[in-house]
Amino acid sequence: MASTWVPDVSPDTPFSLANIPFGIVSSSADPAPHAAIAIGIHVLDLKALSSHATFHDVFPALKNHPGIFSKPTLNEFAALGRPVHREIRKTIQDLLSSETSRPEALKDNAELREKALLSQRNVKMHLPMNIGDYTDFYAGFHHAYSVGALFRGPQKALQPNYTHLPVGYHGRASSIVVSGTPIKRPVGQIIIDPTAEPKQPTTAPSRRLDIELELGCFISTPNEMGSSIKVTDAEDHIFGYVILNDWSARDIQTWEYIPLGPFNGKNFATTISPWVVLADALDPFRTKCLDNWTPLQPYLNENKKESIFDIELQVDLITPQGDATTISTTSSKYLMWSFPQMIAHHSLGGCPMRTGDILGTGTISGPTPNEKGSLLELSEGGKKDVMLYGMDVRRFLKDGDTVVMRGICGKPGEKVGFGDCVGRILAATPVQ
Ligand code: CA
Repeated sequence: MASTWVPDVSPDTPFSLANIPFGIVSSSADPAPHAAIAIGIHVLDLKALSSHATFHDVFPALKNHPGIFSKPTLNEFAALGRPVHREIRKTIQDLLSSETSRPEALKDNAELREKALLSQRNVKMHLPMNIGDYTDFYAGFHHAYSVGALFRGPQKALQPNYTHLPVGYHGRASSIVVSGTPIKRPVGQIIIDPTAEPKQPTTAPSRRLDIELELGCFISTPNEMGSSIKVTDAEDHIFGYVILNDWSARDIQTWEYIPLGPFNGKNFATTISPWVVLADALDPFRTKCLDNWTPLQPYLNENKKESIFDIELQVDLITPQGDATTISTTSSKYLMWSFPQMIAHHSLGGCPMRTGDILGTGTISGPTPNEKGSLLELSEGGKKDVMLYGMDVRRFLKDGDTVVMRGICGKPGEKVGFGDCVGRILAATPVQ
């Protein structure tokens, strides 16, 4: 990979020239949200770039799409499909490369550089997509196994369907927020005394507020209602990926989920990292799903293709006093189902996937105790303290806690990462 002429691009940045993730920014000079890419500690403002006279010569694929980077979301760009995303990303890499073939287009154009290359500190990040639907899966094998074992014992840890299909449910898109948005502790029906019969719920703030470390995937091109997406074609329907924290209120979830599944315990908030890492940027980090010993239905069979990614994932918890502890490190390779399989299964009965829809993997946990992607697992069902710096402990989240999730892969100088997926817990609204 060539080096970049952009100043201050550290070898450890998640936003190397090998990445070029897309996002939506605003600044005091241009307060209307619009498209940008991240490079080191800077962003390249694509709206400013596209206002330049030579833009359509440099990006011929966008000739029929004027103003595509002035829109408040990336949906229109996502809908152009993977060959266009690939071409645009390659051209941006060339413009930012020290050996660019078009120095006049940006590198040697001081006026345009001044306008388009901004410090990340001076821009505000927004939700990158207009998200129509959100579907959350349960593809993290070690998470499904250890949570199942907590509730049903190791013999019955996995439900009989688990190895036959990617289990999922329809989530709530309206409460997906961009990294940095504060998260208010939800109020809900909880059972305070689990031994009392009959069960008597109380309406109160959740006492078991948790995180779920996931990878999210945005849909680019849609399928028509009544048609399905083949597992072998599904990658062409993927725009890119984000880190996703599917905040969960375990006590609300435990009482409400029978028989239809999660509801208020999940629908109050989901945080995503701000930059969409394009599918092509993650290509070098492909790996195979965890071995599934069950013969698959043909529509799910990928013939052991490398269709998931080995991304190093990390979760930090920062106490209200400011002490930060890494509570989990794991990898996105611990999945039994890939996004192409989730997409093939989701659309099997003719459900239309639409541009901007997001799919979550479900909690990603590794096999060892320090690789768990939820506090439910780290605290063994709320029975064991998770030790933190500053002589503090947690089983679930307290008001004022901040959770930071990160994902990164690649060598120094060529790293591909997502940027932080951050949320701080605010106190619940008092119950009347
Ligand atoms: Ca989840």
